[in-house]
Amino acid sequence: MTERFEGSFTQQEPIPEDGIDAAVEVMRHGRLHRYNSAPGETAEVARLEVEFAAYTGARYCLAVASGGSALATALRAVGVGGGEPVLSNAFTLAPVPGAIQSVGGHPVFVGVTRGLTLDLDDLSAKIASSGAGVLLLSHMRGHVCDMEALMRICDAAGVTVIEDCAHTMGARWNGVPSGRHGALGCYSTQTYKHMNSGEGGLIVGDDPDVMARAILLSGSYMLFDRHAAAPPPAHFETQHPDIPNVSGRMDNLRAAILRPQLRALDRNCAAWTARYRVVEAGLAETPGLTLIDRPAPEAFVGSSFQFLLEDWSPEAVRDVVERCAARGVELKWFGAEAPAAFTSRYVHWRYAAPEPMPETDRVLAGLLDMRLPLTFDERDCAQIARIIRAEVGAVWQGRAAAE
Ligand SMILES: *Cc1c(COP(=O)(O)O)cnc(C)c1O
Repeated sequence: MTERFEGSFTQQEPIPEDGIDAAVEVMRHGRLHRYNSAPGETAEVARLEVEFAAYTGARYCLAVASGGSALATALRAVGVGGGEPVLSNAFTLAPVPGAIQSVGGHPVFVGVTRGLTLDLDDLSAKIASSGAGVLLLSHMRGHVCDMEALMRICDAAGVTVIEDCAHTMGARWNGVPSGRHGALGCYSTQTYKHMNSGEGGLIVGDDPDVMARAILLSGSYMLFDRHAAAPPPAHFETQHPDIPNVSGRMDNLRAAILRPQLRALDRNCAAWTARYRVVEAGLAETPGLTLIDRPAPEAFVGSSFQFLLEDWSPEAVRDVVERCAARGVELKWFGAEAPAAFTSRYVHWRYAAPEPMPETDRVLAGLLDMRLPLTFDERDCAQIARIIRAEVGAVWQGRAAAE
């Protein structure tokens, strides 16, 4: 009998009991707005910002309404405006180029390597050809490029780096927390990321003027003194008349849910990566299947898993996806002609008038992706790997037989 996997790839863990208690307390007193605090009270959002700044080692932190809002706020805070080119990954999720477009910038895409990281040679070429002064770097699916090499290239060219850490909250490169190489690090606390408040985002950085602008942009009015992980008032007083209020704050209910999750973050990240390693071991040396190299300096968070079926025909890849789906294993394919769910890629973002990138197309054509929620245990992960291995093997052998 062929085994079938019965778990749900979209079911995250419940909110921890202490998060539920904290949320109920906020609802009982009713002060959900971050600036609605009783005398002497430090609001949950302000507390979360202090704790997340400490977690990442940043001087300042701002909580906002979503990861996408964090990206757009960060871009505006470093001065991106009308019509200017902004570099970003060809392989990322739609809200990344969307954030660039939303502030009036023009996304210029940089290619992806077989390691699923930013192609640094292409980055150098695109810096030169576009004249862009900002890179919105997405650590897509948790794959971190050589950050020292990237920063050397960007520093030499005067390019400001904003990091999209939606998939690397809790990860490190050579010991440095993800989000701490560039000028600003942006995170999402949307349900499918590493902490879950439904929607939400965080920004960290060390530059007082940039972070003051981010706070003003997020909708602080003249209440920035209620922040506890913010630059001194002088940085607001000189700038506030120049900065529009774009209103995208986080509320105390979400912050209350997130604070206990932050305390559990490192433990959860380790649990994700243990699951990742089980799938990786189960798929090792599967003929026709390429695992993604994980370099030693990268302390990644294995909350999702990717592999390549390199140079397979679209029909054969689709066959694998369908066979795995029939056995309960949901693979998402970034190479499909039309986007499904979240799998759009640069060619689908027509508003950005993307240039063709054949090397990137070749990687994405064979790229399969799946989530590894913590509701799966390591036995589930071993079973998932067995199913993928069997179905890739069946299609691969059929293909060989047909040749
Ligand atoms: C989810 C995600 C975002 C946007 O975050 P939201 O909180 O959903 O707005 C940005 N970048 C990447 C890579 C993401 O996965």
